[in-house]
Amino acid sequence: MTVPIDRDRFVATMQEQAEIGGTEGGGLHRLALSDEDREVRDWLTDQLEDLGLTVRVDEFGNMFARREGTDPDAAPVLVGSHLDSQPYGGIYDGALGVVGALELLRTLEDEDIRTEHPIEIVNWTNEEGSRFQPAMQGSGVWIGEHDLEEQYETTDEDGNRFVDELERIGYRGDVPAEPQEEYEAALELHIEQGPYLELDDKSVGVVTGVVGFYWGATTFYGEADHSGPTPMHYRNDALVAAADVITQIRRIPSTLGERTVGTVGYVDVEPNSINIIPDEVTMTWGFRDPSDDVVEQAKERAVAESEMAAEREGVDWEWEKRMRSESVDFADKCVDAVQGAADDLGYDNEQIYSGAGHDAAHLSKFCDTSMVFAPSEDGKSHNEDEYTSWEDCYKGANTLANAALRIATPVE
Ligand SMILES: [Zn+2]
Repeated sequence: MTVPIDRDRFVATMQEQAEIGGTEGGGLHRLALSDEDREVRDWLTDQLEDLGLTVRVDEFGNMFARREGTDPDAAPVLVGSHLDSQPYGGIYDGALGVVGALELLRTLEDEDIRTEHPIEIVNWTNEEGSRFQPAMQGSGVWIGEHDLEEQYETTDEDGNRFVDELERIGYRGDVPAEPQEEYEAALELHIEQGPYLELDDKSVGVVTGVVGFYWGATTFYGEADHSGPTPMHYRNDALVAAADVITQIRRIPSTLGERTVGTVGYVDVEPNSINIIPDEVTMTWGFRDPSDDVVEQAKERAVAESEMAAEREGVDWEWEKRMRSESVDFADKCVDAVQGAADDLGYDNEQIYSGAGHDAAHLSKFCDTSMVFAPSEDGKSHNEDEYTSWEDCYKGANTLANAALRIATPVE
């Protein structure tokens, strides 16, 4: 048996939130701890209070509200995402997961359904990591991955401190920013931000995990010289070595896995002058794949390619690790709940790995977790063209709601 959420109200609520920080280009500019963030938080508070719920705000601005269950000893099921956006981002990223959770709570109220476990909605602070870094900051603090005091001191590019901005918008709460108890499960609905569901003609993604990644950097040390009188065979050009590696990073993924990706996103060239042979170049490289082995192999290839490129060009080189994130496998219990809900609802679905990080990846280190994905048109996100049809948004929200119900009131 499935419990449908109200499609029209859900769509209207999505449209309502999209007006707060809405851009002329049909997107959303709602940076973490901005005035727009305050406004949407106030709006969410109103929606939850209308349901008779009490909103808790923790020291890091994460917002929670709980609808009690029938069993006073049962651990809560956490459902939600984030309401902040990228600069001139889309209206679905994050908001879909919060509105989906809100609509679940409203449906329970409408239908007078008492779940066994409490259901708790969450709006995480600063998931996007564009104004303040790192991304997924609120959930990271909450699970103890990051230190609260350290994160308070992070600043935006104008030098504003996180903690001052949190105070300014009135969302520095007094509840400790850490779990106060065990949780039964956490579920997050999000747009896919990649093209696979659309390519496979599916409406719902049952997310089984999050890809791992490795970020590293290679620096080449050549010799600066006048670009006029220096013959070609005299040169030790650090940029030529880097360029070799850049093309290899593009080729490595196709030799490893079907969904392996590799990127050089940053290059620093010294002295970066039109008339001087570059003597120092730092380039980052990164790989993602569901398999940690594949990520490891890709990293080794990048290091080996760096060595070969340095040899060919006669330059010195070194490399360093920047960051490593192991892939996450979501808990069977939660994946099964999402799968069961999507099947019961009759939606075309497939199991999928997330190629991007999410609050849910943090939560999976603390409790059983899974996600629901809705297709992204052309795989686009983090810009105003981000688009998911209302039909697909609705199917995602309905899947989320029914997956949460499966866990909150288990059928023996
Ligand atoms: Zn997001």
